[in-house]
Amino acid sequence: MGERLYRCEGIILKRIDVGEADRIVTILTPSGKIMATARGVRKTASKLSGHLELLSHCQLQLAVGKQRDVLTQSIVMERFEPLQLQLVRMAAGYYVAELTDMMIADEDAAAQSYELCLETLRALCTAKTIDMALHWYSMQLCDAVGYRPQLVDCAVCGQTLDTKAHLWSFVQGGMLCGDCARSDIQAMHISLSVFKVLRIVQRESLAYVVNLEVAADVHQDVYLILRRWLMRQSERAIRSANFLDDVRRQPS
Ligand SMILES: [Zn+2]
Repeated sequence: MGERLYRCEGIILKRIDVGEADRIVTILTPSGKIMATARGVRKTASKLSGHLELLSHCQLQLAVGKQRDVLTQSIVMERFEPLQLQLVRMAAGYYVAELTDMMIADEDAAAQSYELCLETLRALCTAKTIDMALHWYSMQLCDAVGYRPQLVDCAVCGQTLDTKAHLWSFVQGGMLCGDCARSDIQAMHISLSVFKVLRIVQRESLAYVVNLEVAADVHQDVYLILRRWLMRQSERAIRSANFLDDVRRQPS
């Protein structure tokens, strides 16, 4: 019986060791998220070893399997080396991998987020700081999976928000106008700068946002809002968030 083979490109999001020398690899492809077995990959002689590193962008060949497809070949197209060499960029890369794995379930979302993810990994290698790229990706991922927060019109009544809007509501899914402030007693006060960054990362290109200068306390608030928003939708904690917080606190 000949194996049924297929090729695709993908980004390695997660690797779990199983058995003596195998690994189960989670891969984001342009047409979905797949989990495939890499047999014997932890043996040094394996032709796959070194070609399935976390976050690498690969050209893959797989054989259709009964339970799970089997990786038969991988050629690395992009390694994103700064993500392996610099701690803060590495933490940012892990965060992107975990968010992607956590949020993407269906094919549509994978198709929408594949290029966004690649673009973000490239920016994390070259950008002066990682923050705007992470905010941008978090926000774009919300869009891709259908959890776009309301930042232009009030999340409750739909009237256009002005720059006086300062209440963010996790419950209502976005910003509230003054009239709707009471619709969520736990709505959070946010500064105009935070509101502006949220809107910019929702609307603008990554190339544009990575060059903006933003104060550290604003970054921190934007992080916390987007992180809590994503965790609410996925009902899961983001494990790599602690690592990212730790390395971001260290002086560079
Ligand atoms: Zn309103």
